[in-house]
Amino acid sequence: MPPNASSSSPHIQEQYESDEAHLECPKELQAKIAAETRAISGKFGVPEKVQKKKKWYQLETDIIWLNAIALISLHVIGLYHFITFPYIQKWKLFAVGYFCGMVGGFGVTAGVHRYWTHRSYKANLPFRIILMICYLSSGQNSIAAWVRDHRVHHKFSETDADPHNSNRGFFFAHMGWLMMRKHPEVIRKGKEIDMSDVLSDPVVAFAQKHFTVLRILLGVVVPTLIPRYLMNESWYYSIVTMCFIRYILLLNFTWSVNSAAHIWGNKPYDKNISPVENRAVSFMAMGEGWHNYHHVFPWDYKAAELGNYRLNFTTAVIDFFAHLGWVYDRKQPSKSLVRAIAENRGDGSHRIQEVAEPNTCENEYLRKLYG
Ligand SMILES: [Zn+2]
Ligand SMILES: [Zn+2]
Repeated sequence: MPPNASSSSPHIQEQYESDEAHLECPKELQAKIAAETRAISGKFGVPEKVQKKKKWYQLETDIIWLNAIALISLHVIGLYHFITFPYIQKWKLFAVGYFCGMVGGFGVTAGVHRYWTHRSYKANLPFRIILMICYLSSGQNSIAAWVRDHRVHHKFSETDADPHNSNRGFFFAHMGWLMMRKHPEVIRKGKEIDMSDVLSDPVVAFAQKHFTVLRILLGVVVPTLIPRYLMNESWYYSIVTMCFIRYILLLNFTWSVNSAAHIWGNKPYDKNISPVENRAVSFMAMGEGWHNYHHVFPWDYKAAELGNYRLNFTTAVIDFFAHLGWVYDRKQPSKSLVRAIAENRGDGSHRIQEVAEPNTCENEYLRKLYG
């Protein structure tokens, strides 16, 4: 049983029960399953080709030395402070720094990833503004650049057009890709990606227009001022905690989805693709480590089958705002569709292998569909 599939989400349970009520396979159910199947192989779901693995040292493009030196320096200084930080005396400061990191992480997972890239749910203007503020506090690329890179990643996973192609090794997929010129295929395919939906969002347009100022303000200045003035910390420890420890943890947690979650783990939903289910990444990246599932169902707002919220904090927050009415139209596949996909394409580690389902008419239909 995959670790994220142990308990019941009310949404999934409802969906499952409604599916089970249609064992006669009426036309509507067949149409629904067929439509969901088409959606899977749609815009961002299926990689076009998978190339042979390459050795990590086969540098295919030039190194951007400024980026490389900046990222290495940041990590050397950050690692020094991470090791020497007085955790016992300053546990409150570390906790506040970690919380601020989670705020930025939420902007990445719920914002640029699940909302703007995959459109897996809808949100009102105040929530989109919250997502933008949270995301810009993470100090990463602009929203448009993030979305374009991630859409290309899904569409051309593990090919030259994948910005962080994991076939080029762990380091390249993790952070090396940010130190090098993009492969020409990444640029070529990136230009073909439809970004109109993202760029037409006034929240994104505002963030793009003032990106540099907002990034410095929300990514550096505000996080540093929080411990300095709200906790009366020294400038030294405010900067160390927020600009180094918070920032490098946040970056590496985000990057682990592209590296570790494409290399180490099981493949319950599709054994023929590289992304895997990785519990440690799910913990670090607030629910983004159920990556085999996510690449099969990129339009599911949970980015996991779930569920519970234990290793998917992002989904808990999205659901909370859904109860407030700020978030709506959360997309997710029916249980029967997930089951059919796992049965036909998975590596056998999905729970359906342990809990045999009755041989219903619906299952028969799905077998024909995928068999
Ligand atoms: Zn991926
Ligand atoms: Zn994604």
